[in-house]
Amino acid sequence: MSALTTIRRFELDTRPIHPATRIALDKRWADLPESAKTANQLIGRCAVGCEGTHGVFPKCDLTCSPCYHSADANKVRIDGAHTVSEVDEQMRFLNQMRGPRAHAQLIGGEVSLLPAEDHAQALLTMRKYGREPMSMTHGDFSYEYLLDVVLDADGKPRFDKVSFAAHFDSLMRGRRGAVRPHSEAELNPFRERFAKMFIDLKKDHGVKSYLAHNMTVTPSNVGEVASVTRDVLDMPYDMMSFQPAAFIGDDRRWKEDFTEVTIDSVWEQIEEGAGHRIPWKATQFGDPRCNRSTVGMRVDGTFAVLLDADNPKDIAARDRFLEHFGGMIFGDIPKHILTIKIIRAIAGHPGDLAPLVGLASRVVTRAGGLRRMIRAARRGKLGFKTFVVHNFMDAVDVVPAWELMEKGIASDDPKIKETQERLGSCMYAMSHPEDGRLVPACTQHSVLDPIENIGLRKLLPLIGRTAADSATEIVSRPSGMTPVRSTRRADGAPARP
Ligand code: SF4
Repeated sequence: MSALTTIRRFELDTRPIHPATRIALDKRWADLPESAKTANQLIGRCAVGCEGTHGVFPKCDLTCSPCYHSADANKVRIDGAHTVSEVDEQMRFLNQMRGPRAHAQLIGGEVSLLPAEDHAQALLTMRKYGREPMSMTHGDFSYEYLLDVVLDADGKPRFDKVSFAAHFDSLMRGRRGAVRPHSEAELNPFRERFAKMFIDLKKDHGVKSYLAHNMTVTPSNVGEVASVTRDVLDMPYDMMSFQPAAFIGDDRRWKEDFTEVTIDSVWEQIEEGAGHRIPWKATQFGDPRCNRSTVGMRVDGTFAVLLDADNPKDIAARDRFLEHFGGMIFGDIPKHILTIKIIRAIAGHPGDLAPLVGLASRVVTRAGGLRRMIRAARRGKLGFKTFVVHNFMDAVDVVPAWELMEKGIASDDPKIKETQERLGSCMYAMSHPEDGRLVPACTQHSVLDPIENIGLRKLLPLIGRTAADSATEIVSRPSGMTPVRSTRRADGAPARP
C-alpha cells in the first residue's frame, strides 16, 4: 500500500462521520414522512435504524401465543449452510444501502436450533459487513452451547463481545422446567439463569456481553409488566424491551383481544415497576405509535435519564449533538482511532464542548453525585439501562397499506394512512437483495413471510418423516394441547443444545 493510500485510509478512518453513513442518513431523512421529521427524531440524523434477518432459520421449538412466525415456519428444515449464505447476502446489501455500521438482529425462528458453529459463522458474517449482531433467542440453551458459539475449536474467543436478546414471558409454552408457566414470576429463575451464563462467560473467558430481556404483552400478562420490570432491573440485563401483541403471523395463536394493550399502558406499568418516572420524549426512533425508548444510568436504584425533554439545556445539548455529531460511529473501532475521531469532531465544533460537558454533569447530579456512583459501581449497582416498547401492527392494516405503497398511492383512509406513515418511518428493516429493497419488519411478517415460507419449504424440506419430525410437530401444535418437549430436531440433531 502506498504512503498516499495509507494517509487517505487514515483520514477516512478518523473522519468523524463516514461519507457512506452521511449519504445513508441523508437519504433516510429525505424519505421519512413529514409527520416523522420532528426535532427529537433520531432516524436520518444519528441512526439509520435497526436491521433483522429473515428466512434464514424459520423453525422454533417452543409454542407461544401469539407467534409472529408464519403458520408453516416449522415445516422448514434448519440448515446452517443456508443460514450463513443468506445472512451474507442480506448483510452485504444492508452494508451497501445503509452504510458501514448498524445494529442487526440474527432473528428468525429459534437461533439456538442452529448448530453452534453455524450460529458463530452467521455472527462473524454480520460483523464482516459492519453489523453489530444480536442473537434473538428463547434463552433455553446450555452454557456449553454458548461456549461452542463463542469459542473456536482451540478454545479461544472468536468475539470480544456478544449480544443476545432473550424472550421470556408466560405466553410461551415448552420451556424446559416451565412448560406452561402460570405467572411471570415463575420465569424469574430462568431469567436469572440465562443472564448468569454471560457473567460466567466474562469470568471464564473475558468475553463481554450486552443482554436484552424481551417480553410480549397481552391482556393476560399486562398486569405483571410492573413486577417483571422490578425483578429484571435487579438482573444484569442492559435492555428491557416490551412488545404489545399484534394480530400478525400464525392466526391459530391469536387468543386474546390484543387491542386492549396500548403503548401508554405498558409504559405506565414499566414506570410503576421501576418506581420512578422514565422520561422518553427527548428522542424518538421512527414513529411514536411504533416505538418508545429511553436510556439512562441506574445507580443503586436511582434512574438518571440521559436526556430529559423537560430540561431546556438537555434539549439544546441534544440538538447540537444531532446537528454536528449525529452518525458518528463509536462501536468496534480501535481506541486510538476513536480518540482521534473524537478530537477531530470536537475541533470542528469547539463551541459544543461546554453544552455536552454540562449534560454529562447533569446526568451525574441526577444519579446522586460522583461519590454515590463510585460506591454503586464498586458494589456492582451501576449500569446503563435502556427501556423499549415496540408496537408491531396488525396484518389486516399492513397488507392493504403496503399494497398501496407499492403502487405509490397514499391512502386517505385514516387507519391505512397511519399505517403508511408508520411503515414509511420504520426503524426495523429487513433486506431483500433479490429485488433491491429494504422492507419494514411489519411488512415482512404480514405480507412476505407466508410467501417466502412456501419457497423455503421446497428448498429446505423436513428430511423424511422420522419420529423426530413427529416429536417436533407435537411441540408446534397450536393451543389447547399439552406441549411435549421434543428430544430431537427434525433434521436429526438434538432439539436443544
Ligand atoms: S416494524 Fe412495524 S411497528 Fe416496528 S417500526 Fe417498523 S413499521 Fe413500526
